[in-house]
Amino acid sequence: MIIIANWKMNKDFKDLERFMDSFISLQSWEAISDLKIFFSPSFPLINEVRNIINYNSLNSKIRICAQNCHHEIDGAFTGEVSVKVLDSLGVSSVIIGHSERRNYFNETNDIIEKKISNCIKYDMIPILCFGENLNERKKGNYLNVIESQVNILNSFKKIDHEIILAYEPVWAIGSGLTPSLDEINEVHLFVKNKFPKLKILYGGSLNLNNANDILSLNNIDGGLIGGASLDPYSFSSIIRSIK
Ligand code: PEP
Repeated sequence: MIIIANWKMNKDFKDLERFMDSFISLQSWEAISDLKIFFSPSFPLINEVRNIINYNSLNSKIRICAQNCHHEIDGAFTGEVSVKVLDSLGVSSVIIGHSERRNYFNETNDIIEKKISNCIKYDMIPILCFGENLNERKKGNYLNVIESQVNILNSFKKIDHEIILAYEPVWAIGSGLTPSLDEINEVHLFVKNKFPKLKILYGGSLNLNNANDILSLNNIDGGLIGGASLDPYSFSSIIRSIK
């Protein structure tokens, strides 16, 4: 089971230290055997997360995940961050194609494909987010939308590299709404049938009340958590609730 905390553009240096102090003391680390926690802070905080993980000898339990990377390895791209830099900081995975990046930064499937390819070159795990918006869900063509998003991975089918998928219905992100268990199951089964070897996470308003039910579904390998991962008590309770 994989649980990713996507902190987005939240937390400064002090917030991070306070969060980590509380979270680490709240968790019973021996009880976590099958679970990997990925923290996804904003870029400038990556090094401090790494220091805290090392200091507490939690390397086998916690990984660092970037929220994005540029689609080129290096060059004249002021303000951008490439996988080469992330790799040198001990980052093991990158969230790619989050709906906020697709919507606010016009990320296309072509760009997303390049980013995945860069991650693979640097032996990092790409976490490809996909999911329909509310209009697509209402119109009933959500499986076509999802298929066009995950089909990017057909170019990597012959590559034996770990890739993780995350189903994040856009209308569920930060809204407090979640699909029913049957709706989640339908999408996960659909994608599992196309990519049976890949892990698929669910993300979108996961919280303490719904995490155990959603994450217990058969075709779910973990969760991607935004809002509810910002508070150490809430995030730790979610982790402790997973059976
Ligand atoms: C996300 O944006 O990846 C996410 C899952 O957010 P939230 O949990 O806040 O819906």
